[in-house]
Amino acid sequence: GMKCGIVGLPNVGKSTLFNAITEAGAESANYPFCTIDPNIGIVEVPDQRLDKLTEVIDPKKEVPTAIEFVDIAGLVKGASKGEGLGNKFLGNIREVDAIVHVVRCFEDENITHVEGGVDPLRDIEIIDLELILADLDSVNKKKDRTEKMLKTGDKIYKEQMAVLEKLSPILEDGKPARSAGLSEEEEKLIRDLNLLTLKPVLYAANVSEDEIGKEDNELVAKVREKASEEEAKVVTISARIEAEIAELDGEEKEMFLEELGIKESGLDKLIRAGYELLGLITYFTAGEKEVRAWTVKRGATAPEAAGVIHTDMQRGFIKAEVVSYEDLIAAGSFAKAREAGTLRLEGKGYIVEDGDVCYFKFNV
Ligand code: GDP
Repeated sequence: GMKCGIVGLPNVGKSTLFNAITEAGAESANYPFCTIDPNIGIVEVPDQRLDKLTEVIDPKKEVPTAIEFVDIAGLVKGASKGEGLGNKFLGNIREVDAIVHVVRCFEDENITHVEGGVDPLRDIEIIDLELILADLDSVNKKKDRTEKMLKTGDKIYKEQMAVLEKLSPILEDGKPARSAGLSEEEEKLIRDLNLLTLKPVLYAANVSEDEIGKEDNELVAKVREKASEEEAKVVTISARIEAEIAELDGEEKEMFLEELGIKESGLDKLIRAGYELLGLITYFTAGEKEVRAWTVKRGATAPEAAGVIHTDMQRGFIKAEVVSYEDLIAAGSFAKAREAGTLRLEGKGYIVEDGDVCYFKFNV
């Protein structure tokens, strides 16, 4: 599946946040005891549309979709030079599809900061630099290999070299690869490098518990400014409170959120933001047995979406009956949507949209 990796300097609240994630996963009926790998946390993606569909369809079961987070602890200054198991952690980041960068925006004199004082922009720079240096190393090594291959006369190597030469001055300048503005074609040519700074980033600004539901503090404002320059997103959380909220369920959770004066927990915001960051969308299936949310990459075709349920459904795909979430809710059932003319028949080339409710027909 698609994964978000959690990175950040030591003592910024990563493990507290990750514990909240695994706790929330363990609290849910569908992913209990998901502890196959202690560094991976699986959580349900909150989606009010699913609850509404359940209300209308009244199925026996409701199944949300889920997202994976990976705890990548241990990234420190000097990691790209192999400090403190550095390379191992950088390797872990290579395997994720997007990065959640936790930055400390809370003051607490009892908790030491590895760099002396609380300064999220400096922290971001430290981590970024390690990732950039690691990428520069990958690009330089690839350049050496590609240089040798140029002799073969195969034009692919020439094209690759052009992309590498575009990237190295940017990385040398201390900027992330994503700022190079590579085209899709260019990205494809260097995809095998799995560059760390080409991955989409989301900042999780960890604020103190008494700032929940309040306006951004100065530190968060700075992070937002930096993020907007990079077109990255920011979600504010208070890891400590999130760990408490994650232990609650249903009504208890709602009451606690009300006490805090917020509608949604920081973790839920983070989950949804991470989901978007990964370029994922949700479609639904809705029958008497179950109403269920499924995840596909934005741009997936109807057969690809069917393949998420079962590979046989993709192989034997005939057509899909599709109705938008809004139209189904308005109609009240598939049959009524058909009568109302809002249910469509779609073929193999149909691109699934977020919120589609689908019924697939396939040959077995
Ligand atoms: P990590 O090294 O990044 O994984 O950081 P930890 O999650 O271990 O947190 C470091 C310390 O900061 C711990 O003592 C946490 O309890 C504390 N901490 C984490 N989040 C918060 C927070 O939102 N508010 C306060 N006051 N302390 C926090």
